[in-house]
Amino acid sequence: MKDRFGRTIDYARLSLTSRCNLRCPYCYREETQSEPTDELKPDEIAEIVSVLAELGIQKVRLSGGEPLLRPDLEEIVSAVSKTPGIRETVMTTNAQGLARRLGALKNSGLMRLNISLDSLQAERYRNMNGGSLEEVLSGIDMVIALDMLPLKINCVLLGGINDDEIEGFINMARERPLQIRFIELMPIGKLSIQDLRRDPAEILKSTRGLRLMKSEYPGQPARCWGGPGFRGSIGFIRAFSDPFCRSCNRIRISCEGRIRPCLADDTEWDLRSAIGNPARLKEIIMTAIESKSEKHRFSEGFIPSKFMYCIGG
Ligand code: SAM
Repeated sequence: MKDRFGRTIDYARLSLTSRCNLRCPYCYREETQSEPTDELKPDEIAEIVSVLAELGIQKVRLSGGEPLLRPDLEEIVSAVSKTPGIRETVMTTNAQGLARRLGALKNSGLMRLNISLDSLQAERYRNMNGGSLEEVLSGIDMVIALDMLPLKINCVLLGGINDDEIEGFINMARERPLQIRFIELMPIGKLSIQDLRRDPAEILKSTRGLRLMKSEYPGQPARCWGGPGFRGSIGFIRAFSDPFCRSCNRIRISCEGRIRPCLADDTEWDLRSAIGNPARLKEIIMTAIESKSEKHRFSEGFIPSKFMYCIGG
């Protein structure tokens, strides 16, 4: 379906939980996160996704919070991927515990993944978020072994925290078939972007031999660079410095069933109350898509009231 600015909306990001097992510095809030009882159940997700597909959604990304915390994730993947009209079922994860579940997830219909990785140093990684770098690396190995490519690695660049590791990440893209995406810190969460935001495009100045690659699909937020000597590529997502709102094709649905047409606009509609009534669900989703903002207001100082773990990153 098209929104009122002529953008085709064919991509939905579903947050499966607000719970997370990591404490990333830009995303973690020290208050109790919502209880699992708030989360949509697989049959409720299936019903929402089937209406989304009728309205032209073709790609669904499962995110959170951490989607691997859902014991019923395989059931959800299966329901989403079997929905007529859904062509791609993909997931964003921190990869803690991914390797041992990936075979079952692939068999359930999961096609590809984005893995978050902010440091290649085990101790720094643990200090940053409490997680295990080894788990992430074995998850990456398993994705490659199961040929679920292309695999995208998301690294949020933080000045003075991990920006001394850029070379290490670039070497990873040279040696392995990975798309390393450097993400500019957005004003969502508790870190001050004034102090910590690093424009990833600066990286290009010090890396030789890179050529701009063609976008894989319209609306791709990352501009990607590759070239001779690279098995993979590097990309930059600069939502703040170079917004991609004009080609935005996505909507987000929280784990409690609230639809949010723009990441950086707090307006949401409740879908849960319409479950069991597909016509009403359709009406609410259409209203939300029609109301999608033309562009985000980060540069005007707008800060969303919810962190990414609630919105679905
Ligand atoms: N737990 C999963 C993970 O770690 O990939 C999925 C959810 S997490 C919220 C998804 C993504 O949100 C992370 O890759 C991180 O890049 C991004 N994110 C969260 N807060 C951000 C911020 N303030 N600026 C930029 N990216 C952010």
